[in-house]
Amino acid sequence: MIKRKHSGSDLTIFSEMTALALKNFAVNLSQGFPDFEIDGRLKSFLANATQQDFNQYAPMSGNPLLVENLIEFNAKRKFPITLAKENITISPGASYGIFTALAAILQFGDEVIVLEPCYDSYVPSIEINGGTPVFVGMTEDFEIDFEALKNSINHRTRAIIINSPHNPSGKVLKEEDFHRLAALIEGSQIILISDEVYDLLTYDGHEFYSAFNHPKLKDQSLSIFSFGKMFHATGWKIGYVLGSEELTAAYRRIHQYLGFSVNSPAQQALANYLEVFDVEENRKLLQQKRDFFLEAFNGLPFTVRQKAEAGYFQILGFENISELADKDFAVWLTENAKVTSIPVSAFFQNVNDTKSVRFCFAKKEETVLRAAEKLKDFFK
Ligand code: PMP
Ligand code: GLN
Repeated sequence: MIKRKHSGSDLTIFSEMTALALKNFAVNLSQGFPDFEIDGRLKSFLANATQQDFNQYAPMSGNPLLVENLIEFNAKRKFPITLAKENITISPGASYGIFTALAAILQFGDEVIVLEPCYDSYVPSIEINGGTPVFVGMTEDFEIDFEALKNSINHRTRAIIINSPHNPSGKVLKEEDFHRLAALIEGSQIILISDEVYDLLTYDGHEFYSAFNHPKLKDQSLSIFSFGKMFHATGWKIGYVLGSEELTAAYRRIHQYLGFSVNSPAQQALANYLEVFDVEENRKLLQQKRDFFLEAFNGLPFTVRQKAEAGYFQILGFENISELADKDFAVWLTENAKVTSIPVSAFFQNVNDTKSVRFCFAKKEETVLRAAEKLKDFFK
C-alpha cells in the first residue's frame, strides 16, 4: 500500500468535469482553457525556434533573451516592476512554480495559510512538502478578512498564499491590501507566495498590482506568472517566478534538481512574442469575452452576485433554480442541459455547497452561444 501524501482528490475537479462534459456531449465551460486559436505569430515563432536549433537544454534559470525581454516587459507595466536577472526564473508552468516555491521554503511541520476559496493545487503542494495548511475564509465578497488572517498567524507560520486576480471569483486585490499584508508580515519569517497568473487580464479599469510592486513585500515574496494565461496557450505550460535574490537562490536550489531546464524552443518563441505582444488588445479581447458571456446568459435564471473583475471565469448563483448542492447541480446540469461548469465548493476544504458554479468565458463566441441556447431551451 502506498500512503497518501496529500488530502486532495485522486482526480482534480477540472479533469473530472471535463471528462463528464465529453461523456455527455456537453458544452464544456468548466476547466479553464481557451478554445480559440492562439496568435499565429506565436505559432510561427515556435516553428522558427526549432528550425534555428533551439533544441537542447536552456540555461537552468531560463533562456537569456526571454529573461531580458521579461525585464523590459515588467518595467513597462502600469505599475512598473523593476527586475534584475537574479530575480527571475523560468518555470514549467505556474503550478510547478508554486510547488517549487513551497519546496524551497518549507520545513516539516511549518504552517501555510491559504485563503479560501483557493485554487486546488495549493493544499496538496503544501502537504507534499511537509507543511500543514491553515484555512482562512475570505469575506462573502471575496476580500481578505484581515482580522481572521492576523488571528491565524503564529510562530509556525512560514508562508501565506494569495491569488490576485483570483480564481474562481475574478477579484483583484488593491494596493491598500498589499500595504496591509506588508504590515502583517514585516519583520517575520513569513514568505508571501503570490499567484499572479491572470495579471494581464483585468477589466473595467481594475488594475493589477503585484506583490513585487510593493517596496517591502518584494523582499518577502515569490510572485508566480503563467504564459499559458498571458497568451491563452495553456498547453505550453511555461511560466516565470519572481523573487528577491535570496529567495530566487533558494528557489533555484530546488528547481535545478526538479525541472532544471524548461522547453527550449518554446522559451525562444515566447521571448520573440513578447517583443510584438499588445497587452491592451489582449485585455480588450478577454473583457469582450466576459461581456459577451454575461449578455448571452442574461435572461437565464442564474444570479450574478459579482461581475468578474478579471481572469477567465464568472461565478453564477443557482439558488433560484435548484436545491441541489453545487457539485450535484453541476453534474445534473451537464447530464440534462448539456452545459458543464465547476462547483465553487471545489475551491474549499470543508464547504459542501455554495449555491454557485463557475463558468469559463475564455471561449469562442459560438461556444458561449451554444451553451446559452442549450440552457434557454432547457429552462423555457
Ligand atoms: N494558479 C491559478 C489561479 C490557476 O487558475 C491556474 C490554472 N491554470 C494555475 C495556477 C496553473 O497554471 P499553469 O497551467 O501555468 O501551471
Ligand atoms: N486552472 C484551470 C482552472 O481553474 C484548471 C487547470 C487544471 O485542470 N488543473 O480551470
